Amino acid sequence: MKTFRIAVLPGDGIGPEVMQEAGKVLDVVAERAAVRFERTEGLVGGISYDTYGTPLTDAVLQMAAQSDAVLLGAMGGPKWEPLDYSVRPERGLLGLRAGLGLFANLRPVRVFDDLIDASPLRPEIIRGIDLVIVRELTGDVYFGEPRGVRVEKGERIGVNTMIYSETEIRRIAKVGFELARKRRKKLLSVDKANVLETTELWRTVTTEVGRDYPDVELSHMYVDNCAMQLIRNPGQFDVIVTTNLFGDILSDEASMLTGSMGMLPSASQGEKTAMYEPIHGSAPDIAGKNLANPIAMILSTAMMLRLSLGMATEADLVEKAVREVLKAGFRTGDIRQPGTTVVGTAEMGDRIARQVGALMA
Ligand code: NAD
Repeated sequence: MKTFRIAVLPGDGIGPEVMQEAGKVLDVVAERAAVRFERTEGLVGGISYDTYGTPLTDAVLQMAAQSDAVLLGAMGGPKWEPLDYSVRPERGLLGLRAGLGLFANLRPVRVFDDLIDASPLRPEIIRGIDLVIVRELTGDVYFGEPRGVRVEKGERIGVNTMIYSETEIRRIAKVGFELARKRRKKLLSVDKANVLETTELWRTVTTEVGRDYPDVELSHMYVDNCAMQLIRNPGQFDVIVTTNLFGDILSDEASMLTGSMGMLPSASQGEKTAMYEPIHGSAPDIAGKNLANPIAMILSTAMMLRLSLGMATEADLVEKAVREVLKAGFRTGDIRQPGTTVVGTAEMGDRIARQVGALMA
């Protein structure tokens, strides 16, 4: 029987609750597809700090690196906010990204027909949205040197460095082109080439890479215009590739098109093991109350099946099961609408898992 090794890192807050539901879906998929998911759990984030004094141990990083894929819940919470930055739960996330060399973050944004009313935008603007933001994850101002705050001529000045090498741009551009090739064959590269030389290079290199992908239509847009177009006419976008800083902002903006953080999955890819996680955080305000929406975690698991385990058919069926449960009128509190039935985290997970079972029967 085919066996896949999965590192399961539930983390803090609602992380363990939503991970539990993803586990139910994986159990059903394993049984019906006759594969084995060998799952190893590890502590990360605040709970790892409480147990080991660090948000990410070498042992967990090594276990993750040796797996076929990593599933991550969420990290952090008010309890750990007073800690020094070097041991804050968020460092665990950066440690995983750096340790696994995850340089590409993929965030699909898709609007479910049954949830159109949950969006703050008008239905005619968001109906049919199906886009992916590919964000570079290991470069840019977040990592560039020099950085810091220093005193010069009697006043404090803050410095960060926007920096990209050709190699970094080329490898993320390729991820964008490859993805566009599997979709509607349109790639938009977002930069600020009119004023930032770093992103002028970004545009030049992306255009060069495009010569290897004549079947993909490449276009360019300035980030300020893109931020505006995402609200004005999001249906025009298919795959968007952009820098770490611009991607951070644009992907949060795009996620709100759908109305709830609890619905959106993400994948982070590198040379080897990829990591899959919901875009939301640990939601301490609702943790432990059976209120969390597990769909983002379940859809992240579907992305893992498709992108890391070669199980695209099963991934499609998991996504279909989510659509059908929503269509049948079941909602967690964050996406409740008049006339629907509000269920808790566990019941939502049970219903989706049961639906996956029915679709795979
Ligand atoms: P958050 O995403 O945790 O929560 C924002 C709001 O959305 C809250 O009201 C929350 O209840 C709601 N929400 C989030 N996910 C939900 C779900 N699945 N179902 C229903 N409602 C949901 O963001 P925050 O409150 O800014 O951050 C809380 C903690 O999470 C912080 O410590 C932050 O650093 C951390 N965080 C972690 C990650 C990560 O691990 N990748 C990402 C973002 C924030």
